[in-house]
Amino acid sequence: MNTIIEPFRIKSVEPIYFNNKEERIAILKKAFYNPFLIHSNDVLIDLLTDSGTSAMSSNQWAGIMQGDESYAGSPSFFRFEETIQQLTGLPFVIPTHQGRASEKILFSILGGKGKYIVSNTLFDTTRANIDFSGAEGVDLICEEGKYPTIPAPFKGNMDTGLFEKFIAEKGAANISACIITVTNNSGGGQPVSMANIREIKNICVEFNIPLFIDACRFAENSYFIKLREEGYADKSVTEIAKELFSYADGCTMSAKKDAFANIGGFLAMHNEQLAKECRNLLIMTEGFPTYGGLAGRDLEAIAIGLREVLDEHYLQYRIRSIEYLTNKLIDVGVPVMQPAGGHAVYIDAKAFLNHIPVDQYPGQALVGALYVEGGIRSVEIGSLMFGKYDEDGKLIPSQMELVRLAIPRRVYTQSHIDYVAEVIIEVFNKRNEIKGLKIIEEASTLRHFTAKLETIN
Ligand SMILES: *Cc1c(COP(=O)(O)O)cnc(C)c1O
Repeated sequence: MNTIIEPFRIKSVEPIYFNNKEERIAILKKAFYNPFLIHSNDVLIDLLTDSGTSAMSSNQWAGIMQGDESYAGSPSFFRFEETIQQLTGLPFVIPTHQGRASEKILFSILGGKGKYIVSNTLFDTTRANIDFSGAEGVDLICEEGKYPTIPAPFKGNMDTGLFEKFIAEKGAANISACIITVTNNSGGGQPVSMANIREIKNICVEFNIPLFIDACRFAENSYFIKLREEGYADKSVTEIAKELFSYADGCTMSAKKDAFANIGGFLAMHNEQLAKECRNLLIMTEGFPTYGGLAGRDLEAIAIGLREVLDEHYLQYRIRSIEYLTNKLIDVGVPVMQPAGGHAVYIDAKAFLNHIPVDQYPGQALVGALYVEGGIRSVEIGSLMFGKYDEDGKLIPSQMELVRLAIPRRVYTQSHIDYVAEVIIEVFNKRNEIKGLKIIEEASTLRHFTAKLETIN
């Protein structure tokens, strides 16, 4: 087969500012070994996140010029609304400034003390908003989703047996929603199968539990279904996405992911009464219902992005670029999560740096080494992010020590990705020289964003 090429040409470019290793050693030290504290101009290849970092198309930029900034009843809103209604089949569409604003509104209404929200795996902002409402979020990921290096086609699936058991234990009346994250971001960007969604839907119908989809990466998930699930090879990704949404009572979305927008999100649902309650909160926190927290131009960019993301040449290139990098690393024995997910490559830092104990943050140490070696910015998903302390102040480590390399949409070319692989392999070859880290300053919650660290000699 021929090389799968980037399905776009480049009309507008942004410079990459080069620096050398000496400079990067100093920059990293000054940033206290925390990639969030590095200025982005000091980064060569920025794989910190795929959120809000997409390149917009010339069509989206043209749409931006057509944005109508009327406070109420803007035609930009109606184009946004119609696109989402057609895609999801959900009649009530509520714009928000990003995904977590949708979550905040939804769980302020569905959450509350004594309630449970079940999921395959809740994303961290989703869990935080559920917790904040007083409700409890529960992850019921399937067994195969728990082992990073053992491949399986749908590691994002929910364990439906556990779901039924949970309902029997807690009572359906106390479970105010089930929310399925597609693809499963916190679980390595792994997809959920249509069969699993259908099974979950049947259980939800039987017990009268509303089913929501956290749809941030609905197009990537739909493409995986086309590739991997029996009976879907000949269906278009648009048809698959529509079927996926057809099982949902509602969805939350961050347009910073699969809508190629730099900001934005929405909530959509079938239930009119719930939509009314959501809109009342929206007016208080985000804005009037025909703009939410967004400018008219953002609504245009999102509407166009939602159609563009279903282009199968784009999705083929997208999924292939993640797989391409993953396979290059597997070939030389770098331990990575398998199979490749939809939006990022995950390195198993515990295996990569097996001489660094977990209380010296091997993930963060690897993040620093990748920056110094090649100016690549990545993020630790391990004990710096999720670690807690016991009563004696001893670290309770996270289950896994991962380093995530999230690939922004339509931003980097194959030579950038080749460069990333070369740098990782270079670091792998001299991994024994990498030293552990200790925290010298930290916040009590979400500490990874602001923590300051230093190397242990
Ligand atoms: C990014 C993300 C969110 C939150 O969206 P924001 O736009 O960042 O607020 C929620 N769920 C998942 C799965 C995400 O990836």
